[in-house]
Amino acid sequence: MTSKSRGCDGYLFDCGVNFEPVLVSACLLGIPCRWHGRKPKKREKLIERLKKRYVLVPICPEQLGGMPTPRTGERLEGSGAEVLDGKLRIIVPETGQDVTRFHVNGAKYTLEIAKIVGARRAYLKGGSPSCDREGVTGEILKRRGIKVIRVP
Ligand code: SF4
Repeated sequence: MTSKSRGCDGYLFDCGVNFEPVLVSACLLGIPCRWHGRKPKKREKLIERLKKRYVLVPICPEQLGGMPTPRTGERLEGSGAEVLDGKLRIIVPETGQDVTRFHVNGAKYTLEIAKIVGARRAYLKGGSPSCDREGVTGEILKRRGIKVIRVP
């Protein structure tokens, strides 16, 4: 099947529309990747607005880092910057398990995706130890000059 015969729907690079790619937290798109595994509320208005200007690239750093869904729902007791600089660990309160490496790996893989697609901005879900402007992924993207917009 050629790119002409299949049209534009769902294809990022074959439709001749030169929209800028942006990363978007997958849960904002309604994908059930949150720690509890339940379907999140899709942010319809935000998504409709972004789709007019950008190609949306869904990312879930915690899944990219190797964490399952459902998974533990730990909090960041500091900043993503401290985690990346090796000054803070992310620990599951109930079990004491150190899950830092999953968050750091997810941030690194997300950064790789941003580089591959050429994203210069990211819309990340607030209140997450990975996403969020101050989360581990938010921080690694900011350090590489990618604009991070926190979605509350
Ligand atoms: Fe959503 Fe980000 Fe948490 Fe994944 S890591 S569920 S994309 S907030």
